[in-house]
Amino acid sequence: MRIVFIGPPGAGKGTQADYIVKTYKPAHLSTGDMLRAARDAGTEVGKEANKYMSAGQLVPDDVIVGIIAQRLEEPDCEAGYLLDGFPRTIAQAESLDAMLGEKKTPLDVVLELRVGEEELFERLAGRGRADDTPDVIRRRLVAYRQQTEPLLKYYTEKNLLVTVDGLGSVEEVAGRVKGALDKIAG
Ligand code: ADP
Repeated sequence: MRIVFIGPPGAGKGTQADYIVKTYKPAHLSTGDMLRAARDAGTEVGKEANKYMSAGQLVPDDVIVGIIAQRLEEPDCEAGYLLDGFPRTIAQAESLDAMLGEKKTPLDVVLELRVGEEELFERLAGRGRADDTPDVIRRRLVAYRQQTEPLLKYYTEKNLLVTVDGLGSVEEVAGRVKGALDKIAG
């Protein structure tokens, strides 16, 4: 299966992504993890990306599209993958469509993990990552609302969107995720 996983910061997307990877064994393409690895390795891309990450802003589309285009060429992606944190803008989604159109490997589903904004803020404030200060959190939530939420309509129009309620225990949410993906896998 080729899955796009969308959800605001703090929705529990990382936890559910791990569950999906364990259960269905897709290649796990987390752009947040890739960018943090590039930053920690001190590469040019990593240094450039960190300017945006530490400010709660999205890194420029061309940077992230380049990273993903390269990653999708790796052999482990042939059997399916979970795109976790990409696309995050309409421009990224259009680039992805173009790439997958060329390869004739369309997406199977876009899974949205939905959690209300107040709950998100509380969860994030309790997490303590370097980019989890209240000010940066607020900016990440604004970036999500302004730049990423338009994707929900974009993928609804392509009949790909499935929304899962992210409120509840990890197991409850995982059960909903499984229900949604099993339906698609058939
Ligand atoms: P979050 O907890 O906000 O979901 P991620 O680990 O997915 O965080 O990403 C951390 C940061 O990496 C983002 O705030 C952003 O700066 C950058 N980033 C990750 N994916 C993308 C993307 N597809 N486009 C632009 N920036 C991205």
